[in-house]
Amino acid sequence: MNAQDEVARLARLIREAGRAVVFTGAGISTESGIPDFRSPGGIWSQMAPIYFDEFLASEEARRETWRRRFAMEAEFGGAEPNRGHRAVDALVRRGKVAAVITQNIDGLHQASGIPADKVIELHGNTTYATCLDCGERYEIADLRRAFESDGAVPPCTHCLGHIKTATISFGQAMPVPAMRRAEEETLAADLFIVLGSSLVVYPAAGFPELAKRNGAQLVIVNREPTALDPIADLVIHRGIGDTMGAAVGVN
Ligand SMILES: [Zn+2]
Repeated sequence: MNAQDEVARLARLIREAGRAVVFTGAGISTESGIPDFRSPGGIWSQMAPIYFDEFLASEEARRETWRRRFAMEAEFGGAEPNRGHRAVDALVRRGKVAAVITQNIDGLHQASGIPADKVIELHGNTTYATCLDCGERYEIADLRRAFESDGAVPPCTHCLGHIKTATISFGQAMPVPAMRRAEEETLAADLFIVLGSSLVVYPAAGFPELAKRNGAQLVIVNREPTALDPIADLVIHRGIGDTMGAAVGVN
């Protein structure tokens, strides 16, 4: 199929759907200049990941975690939502998409205008931090100033707990409320659209399978083939911004 036919089929599936869910992975954010950490040559293939237990146990591991986080800020802290994010936002505003389930931690769906309560973050969010003990929220810019003057991020001012980005680390349990909501939204959807995920990370990758088993139409837009291409109703191996932008009518 050529690109025009694929976009037309996608547009028709969206038009015919009563309640859609969008599931996004790194591929939608690479179009905003954010690297895919898990890809070959990505940051996590060059540096050993720091597991959650190490973060809790070692001051040095906490310093290294924060050093990496601030280095990331310097490189792509200014990333902005792209045409793909805007197309998803348009579908949410039109009432077509009930929820966005994302593996991304960059907050770009919220930055595109989608209300935070419609974004289900399976791996958390790196654009702010929280105290691991009392949950108090901290802003990255404030923590960075402290890190640059003292060489470390201070403990929580309320309870002296460790402050960490609001992400799910390696070795940290998946967030139960987010997983449960993602499952509920998946089961309520008659159209499930995957954007930019290779669908190799479980349990996240189980959602499109669940949607398909439950009778939903499954669409996958990803530059590379994915493990679930064979069961999808429509597979498009092209850019997300151009594909979704054209299908939804958003620039
Ligand atoms: Zn605290």
